[in-house]
Amino acid sequence: QIFMPLNFLGFVYREIRGSLANIENLFSLLNKKSQVPITPNAPELSAQKGLVEFKHVGFSYRKDRIILQDVSFKILPGQKVAIVGESGAGKSTLVKLLFRFYDVTSGSVSIDQQDIRQVTQDSLRQNIGIVPQDTVLFNDSIFENVRYGRPEASNLEVNQAIDLANLRAFIESLPDKHETQVGERGLKLSGGEKQRVAIARTILKRPKILIFDEATSSLDSQSEQLILKAIKNVSKGHSSLVIAHRLSTIIDADNIIVMGDGKILEQGSHKCLLEKDGAYKQLWLAQRDNEEQNSEDSHSTESL
Ligand code: ATP
Repeated sequence: QIFMPLNFLGFVYREIRGSLANIENLFSLLNKKSQVPITPNAPELSAQKGLVEFKHVGFSYRKDRIILQDVSFKILPGQKVAIVGESGAGKSTLVKLLFRFYDVTSGSVSIDQQDIRQVTQDSLRQNIGIVPQDTVLFNDSIFENVRYGRPEASNLEVNQAIDLANLRAFIESLPDKHETQVGERGLKLSGGEKQRVAIARTILKRPKILIFDEATSSLDSQSEQLILKAIKNVSKGHSSLVIAHRLSTIIDADNIIVMGDGKILEQGSHKCLLEKDGAYKQLWLAQRDNEEQNSEDSHSTESL
């Protein structure tokens, strides 16, 4: 009950930090009632397979500005779908619609053929696990912080989640092992370590659908590899949606959706999209040039 809103807080916080950058706005947004109407006597979502469908979705936050136009795609059960595109293209908005933080302006979003407006919000959110960029850590031990994913989980289950999320070696290196206090008044974790705590929590929650909001800040390659391996472990048998910032992390995705200006510009596998010579290839080349430039810069700084 407490975990989901707190987990979502990181997501909301990032949105505000990015666009409004004002702490007062954070509190006003959190105090704001949910934007979506509650359907009376709605049944619970039954997500057995995890088929997600966006059908001709249109969306505006405000009447005077269209954010998404005619967006249609599917995540087939067990598939990994990635969303890429320039900043402001509408990637996070798609996730907010799937989580029903807002309702679509036109079209529909459904899970296993049930329109998400026609089921209870609780059951919808129980079936979706978000691994946000910024995870909220409580002033508690690292072990209990993982257990927040499902407070009734046994010690054995928490330990299994720690292993699958590639957190074991890190925890063993801490002064008090899994009793080490973390959070505001304890040990501060790096971005990559925090994201692995979020993955461990999600493993415990066992949702049918997973959303990964990849960190925009660059991680060192060892940390990135640990996260990628953890994501692979957790997404086995689940439908997953990845908001990707580094294209190198989604080469293996079943489908890559390239967003631009609120529309789908192209979609397909990494190989297909590179052969197309379109928007994806441009993003890919731009990112490669950027990485080469950064590595040249760091070499020249080292030699100074
Ligand atoms: P980034 O990669 O920078 O996170 P994004 O592709 O995820 O970007 P969105 O966050 O979905 O993009 O934003 C799409 C557009 O919607 C942007 O122009 C943004 O300014 C606008 N937007 C986002 N949230 C709101 C909001 N709460 N109210 C009004 N406009 C918003």
